[in-house]
Amino acid sequence: MIKMLSKLFKSLFLLEILKGLSITGKKLFKKPITVQYPEEKTPQSSRFRGLHALRRYPNGEERCIGCKLCEAVCPALAITIDTEMRSDGTRRTTKYDIDLFKCIYCGFCEEACPVDAVVETKIFEFHFESRNEKVINKEQLLEIGDKYEQEELKDRNRIN
Ligand code: SF4
Ligand code: SF4
Repeated sequence: MIKMLSKLFKSLFLLEILKGLSITGKKLFKKPITVQYPEEKTPQSSRFRGLHALRRYPNGEERCIGCKLCEAVCPALAITIDTEMRSDGTRRTTKYDIDLFKCIYCGFCEEACPVDAVVETKIFEFHFESRNEKVINKEQLLEIGDKYEQEELKDRNRIN
């Protein structure tokens, strides 16, 4: 009964509307917080996971040893790897594709990698112009890794 009366009272005197208007009134004279993207950017979390990259050792040798742990752990089945044995007995990938449409940017691949080869950079501004471009290949991943090794990875203390 009390509940019903309180509801009736609130409806009669439009209390909810007045409450809403008071919040609007308070915000009316405050400085707007709209961010003028892309000129302005909001701070990015140090835990942000963006576009992938494949890293190399300082001597230029690619880190990835083709163990396929990242492929196995990927919940979205976004990674496809083919490998071959080299004449020196080491194993390297012949194919390393990531389907960026399937990827959910969970970071499991970089967590699983025993040699810190695959990483997720802070890059979030990328686009595709055709469906084929959604799959990023080994050469592209290595290129991103080379380009962003210093700027993107150093501040995350991921260079060994
Ligand atoms: S970030 Fe997650 S979903 Fe994306 S490739 Fe890595 S493991 Fe797969
Ligand atoms: S990126 Fe890392 S986990 Fe994936 S195949 Fe290469 S070495 Fe293994």
